[in-house]
Amino acid sequence: MLLLSGPNISGNEWKYVKECLDTGWVSSVGSYVSKFENMMAEYTGCKYGVATSNGTAALHIALLLTGVKRDDYVIAPNVTFIATINAIKYNNADPILIDVDEETWQMDLDLLEEFLENETDEKNGELFCVRDGRAIRCILPVHVLGNVCDIDKLLAIAKKYNLKVIEDATESLGTFYKGKHTGGFGSMGCFSFNGNKIITTGGGGVIVTNDEDLAKKAKHLTTQAKSDPFEYKHDEIGYNFRLVNVLAAMGVAQLELLPSFVKRKKEIDTFYKKELNGTGDIRFQKVQEETDPNYWLFTIMTEKQKEVLKILNDNEMQSRPFWVPMNQLPMFAQNIYFNHNDCSDYIYKRCLSIPCSTNIRDEEMASVSEKIRSVYQ
Ligand SMILES: *Cc1c(COP(=O)(O)O)cnc(C)c1O
Repeated sequence: MLLLSGPNISGNEWKYVKECLDTGWVSSVGSYVSKFENMMAEYTGCKYGVATSNGTAALHIALLLTGVKRDDYVIAPNVTFIATINAIKYNNADPILIDVDEETWQMDLDLLEEFLENETDEKNGELFCVRDGRAIRCILPVHVLGNVCDIDKLLAIAKKYNLKVIEDATESLGTFYKGKHTGGFGSMGCFSFNGNKIITTGGGGVIVTNDEDLAKKAKHLTTQAKSDPFEYKHDEIGYNFRLVNVLAAMGVAQLELLPSFVKRKKEIDTFYKKELNGTGDIRFQKVQEETDPNYWLFTIMTEKQKEVLKILNDNEMQSRPFWVPMNQLPMFAQNIYFNHNDCSDYIYKRCLSIPCSTNIRDEEMASVSEKIRSVYQ
């Protein structure tokens, strides 16, 4: 089976993990955790990194630290992986779902502006939704497939409405906008190291930030909020969201490989575009200007989505449709979904991702392309 986006364990993973096993430092204490946090901070150009058990936990804690409370709203795109919206719900808040741009597949910033302009009110420095008077706490953009929206525009909108920005950067490790890495634009950025991401620790996450206070609080909350180094004194309800040393060791080895992975992802993108450009109605995700994406998951858009998915999966070439838009899931069907012509649904019915693991061979990509082309003959 040719995997959609599988792990590539080809560096010092065995060596570093073995060291943990040999010394017994396998659990929540050990030097690889802070090493991994520091490397993530350095790579993303942020001052601090706090490791978490996964990307969902990172989002959960980042929202909590932004002051998201019961019945608050968090603005998020309607096209994302479920974890983004679940993290909002874990804080007892609700999403305001904004439709996405048909070309970049990121949150539509014109719609966002329109919503804020027409549907919100400011009182004592806080923003409220006029429909029900509930507070809007922050914006949670998602860098879908490792691409981004017009971040400068997003930040200007956020500033105008006095809203914090938390980045769901779980798919965008290796993505730079105007020379600056994603995750550092908002007050906090969240990364994931799940098995299908550009680097993996099996499961894991990191929160990056330039704010020392937020970093300290994130560490505290993710490690059971223990307030005394010796006695079991805890000063609030904390979480066991830490990343264990064995997995952090794997993360250090994977981060060493990241530049080569980004390079390979870019080659894969170029290869497929050359093979598939001009085939039927196939279109590709538009890359935002002045962006160096990580080309994480190669995705095409076509009316023949079902046929392409079938022929690839029938031939052991793992391919997947896009996420079901959040407003179409039963848990979020009652939430505000701000849109004009439901681009989310349009994209959902036409997009599919095809095998693009960093260790895929050129011949394998050529066979995938050939199978896809056969659908249009
Ligand atoms: C992977 C992913 C997450 C969650 O990360 P986990 O590490 O799997 O918890 C959140 N949001 C998006 C958009 C993702 O792709």
